[in-house]
Amino acid sequence: MASRFLSVLFLCLVVANVYAQDQEKVLLKTFHSISSNDLLNYDTELTSAKYGGRLSGSPGYLNAAKWVAEKLKLAGLKPGISDSSFFQYFPNAYSQILTPGTVTLLAGKSNPRKEYHFPDDFYPGSNTASGKVSGEVVYVGFGITAPNLGYDDYKNLDVKGKIVLMETGVPYGGNDSLQLKWEPYSYHRYKFQHAQELGAIGLLYVSKIANPNTSFLKGFVYAHIGEPVAEELFAGSGKKYAETRAFITKSMKPNSFALDKKVQITASSKYFPDGKSCNVIGIIEGSDPVLKNEAIVLGAHLDAVGSPGCLFPGALDNGSGSCDILAAAEALASSGIKPARTVIFIFFGGEECGLFGSKKYVESPIWPKEKVVFMINLDMIGNGTGLFLANGKSHPAILNYFSDSNKKYIHRDFDASEARISYGRPRTDGAIFEKAGYQTLHLYTSGTVKTVYYHHPLDNVDGLTPEIMEDAAKLLYLSVLGIANDGTTVFK
Ligand SMILES: [Zn+2]
Repeated sequence: MASRFLSVLFLCLVVANVYAQDQEKVLLKTFHSISSNDLLNYDTELTSAKYGGRLSGSPGYLNAAKWVAEKLKLAGLKPGISDSSFFQYFPNAYSQILTPGTVTLLAGKSNPRKEYHFPDDFYPGSNTASGKVSGEVVYVGFGITAPNLGYDDYKNLDVKGKIVLMETGVPYGGNDSLQLKWEPYSYHRYKFQHAQELGAIGLLYVSKIANPNTSFLKGFVYAHIGEPVAEELFAGSGKKYAETRAFITKSMKPNSFALDKKVQITASSKYFPDGKSCNVIGIIEGSDPVLKNEAIVLGAHLDAVGSPGCLFPGALDNGSGSCDILAAAEALASSGIKPARTVIFIFFGGEECGLFGSKKYVESPIWPKEKVVFMINLDMIGNGTGLFLANGKSHPAILNYFSDSNKKYIHRDFDASEARISYGRPRTDGAIFEKAGYQTLHLYTSGTVKTVYYHHPLDNVDGLTPEIMEDAAKLLYLSVLGIANDGTTVFK
C-alpha cells in the first residue's frame, strides 16, 4: 500500500516537474524575445529630430505619444481611457524657443565687453519671454523672502530695473521637517515671480541645464548660466562666487549685493498658454476572474526638455525608462503565461514641466487606488551595469520577486534601499504616487559607465548602454509576471 502511494506520489512529482519545465520554457521564450537592439531602435525613434525633444504640450511630444500608443495597440494592449483612447489629456502651457539668444557682459569701468556662447556658457530659459533686457547685475543668493524662517535674500536691496543673478534650490540642505518649511520657496516658479514682483527685468540662473519647470512671465527674460560665468561676474567685487554661495548655505545667512557689472540678455520665443498634453495609458487585462480586479502600474515619463536653442534628445532622461516599460508591455502582452492580475502602463507627459502628468493621473485615476498592488516608476534607466530598486527593502515581498528573477536569469549587480521620506520638492512621478498613498518603487541603473548628460544636447543614444535596458525590461517582465500570478502572498 505504502509503495503504491509512493509511486503515485513519484508520478505526481514527475508530472509537476515536467509541467514546471514546460512553464519555464514558455517563460524563457518571451524573456529571450526582449532585445537590446529593439530597445535601442525605440530610443533612436523617440530621440529623432521629428519629435523636437518631446517638450510636453508641443506637437513633437504629441506625435511621440501617438507613436507609443500605436506600439501599445500593435502589441494588443487595451486603451486605458474610458472613451477608448490611450490619451489622458491635461492643460500644459509651454514655450517654443526659436533661437539660442544671447548673453553679453557689457563693457564697464573694469571689464571689456564679452559675449557668452551657447551651449558652452549658457542655455536660454525654457519659458523666457521674447525680447532684450539689459541692466546692472545684482546677486540675490537663493532669491527667497521667507518671513516665517527669518530669511530674506532681498533685504535692503533694490532690484528694480535690474537683472538678478540667482541660485536654484534653497540654502537649507537637511532632509527633515525643517526642509518642509523651505519647500514652498524651492520652486523655480516662486523665485521667478518673486523677482519680477520686486521689479527685476531679467534673471541669470546659476544652473546650466534646460528646464521647462518654470513659468512664462510677460516681459521677463532669463537664461541659465554655468558657474564659470557667475565667477566672472563676481570679478572685481572682492568676493568669489563659489565661496559666497558656500557661505550662505553654511551660515544660513543671506549675502546679496550689487555686482559692478552690466549684462544684456536677448531671447526669442513663442508662448503657447493654451497648450495641452497627455499621458499615454495602456492596459493588459488580467486573466484571472478575481485577481484581474487588482492592478500593477508601471510608469515612466515620456516627455523631455524640447529644443531650447538646439535639440535636447532626452535619450537617457527618459527615453530609456519609456522604452523599458514599452518592451515590458510587449513581452507581457505576448507572453505564453498570462498575467492573472491586470497590468497598467503609463507614459507620463509634463514631468519636466512640474510632474503635471502624474498629478493628473492621481487626481483622475483609471483604476481604484486600493486595488493597485504597487506602482513602479522608471526614470533614467539606460546607463550602467547594475540595477537598483529604491524603496524595495520596505516592500520585501515585492523585492523578493525582483532579486530572485535577477539571481536566477539576469545576473546583474542588484541592490535595493529602504523607503525614506523626502521633505523637499517632489522630483519624480513616483514621488507623486507615493504622496497619494500608492506603494511605490523606483527602478534605476547603477554602476554608470558613460558620461551622464543631464538635460543636455548630448543626452543622445550614444550615452546609453542598451544591454542594461534589455535587462531592465527582462527584470520587469519576470518580476511583474511573478507578482501578477501570485494569489497567496500579501504584497506589503
Ligand atoms: Zn527624468
